[in-house]
Amino acid sequence: MDQQVAIVTGSARGIGKSIAEKLAKQGFQIVICDIDQEQVEKTAKEIEQLGTKAIGIKVDVTKPAEVDQLFEETMKTFSRVDVLINNAGITRDTLLIRMQESDWDAVIAVNLKGTFNCTKSAAKIMMKQRSGKIVNISSVVGVMGNVGQANYSASKGGVISLTKSAAKELAARGITVNAVAPGYIETDMTKSLSDEVKAAFLTVVPLKRPGTPADVANVVNFLVSPDSDYITGQVIHVDGGMVM
Ligand code: NDP
Repeated sequence: MDQQVAIVTGSARGIGKSIAEKLAKQGFQIVICDIDQEQVEKTAKEIEQLGTKAIGIKVDVTKPAEVDQLFEETMKTFSRVDVLINNAGITRDTLLIRMQESDWDAVIAVNLKGTFNCTKSAAKIMMKQRSGKIVNISSVVGVMGNVGQANYSASKGGVISLTKSAAKELAARGITVNAVAPGYIETDMTKSLSDEVKAAFLTVVPLKRPGTPADVANVVNFLVSPDSDYITGQVIHVDGGMVM
């Protein structure tokens, strides 16, 4: 993968950072992007220690102008974009009847509109290159739904539908678009869940353990490698068997 370029959104920490590390070890040059400038720079430096070139760009994926700038800066530095991982995501959990409009809007804006914004910008470049791989991070909740996550499940279900439409539109130009649907993965996002909720999750995981960011990164790595060239429009579950 030497000289190929991968942009990973929401990659200052968590699953995104793990994906960036995995791709860096495969030889990809990496663009770390996230909303916190300090964290972005810190993570980009850590990635460079793995022996590849990495740049950090502060971007809010909900803002099309910032996303345009992300791709412009990436092209200025590397002159190509081979891989886009739409990973940035947030939760604002509460029961449907208590959910504020702002909780709904914030989650849809980052998880779904952010994925649209970045996919659109990447597609313009990849179509000219006639190659590219896009991987969207969805969730099992986007398939199953979940109590207290009407906004999140709608956003992640939307990501799956967006993945399929983009896969159909872009296939003729040699671009694949797939989604990964993680289950319960141990990160900052799930750290705040009560022990009771965590234990309840594990009762429905046949493999009887939470997933790690590396479990997700390994599958993403496959989906951006030539080994997956004949796979597009698919949703790969990384959930210990939760959904089958
Ligand atoms: P984290 O909260 O640990 O990381 C998410 C990252 O996205 C953070 O660095 C965050 O920045 C960044 N981010 C938030 N909003 C924006 C924005 N507007 N623009 C750019 N970056 C932004 O989450 P995880 O690593 O756990 O999750 C990564 C992805 O995996 C998400 O899409 C999530 O929905 C999905 N997922 C996670 C599961 C889990 O169990 N952890 C299960 C299923 C799916 P900051 O820290 O500054 O807010």
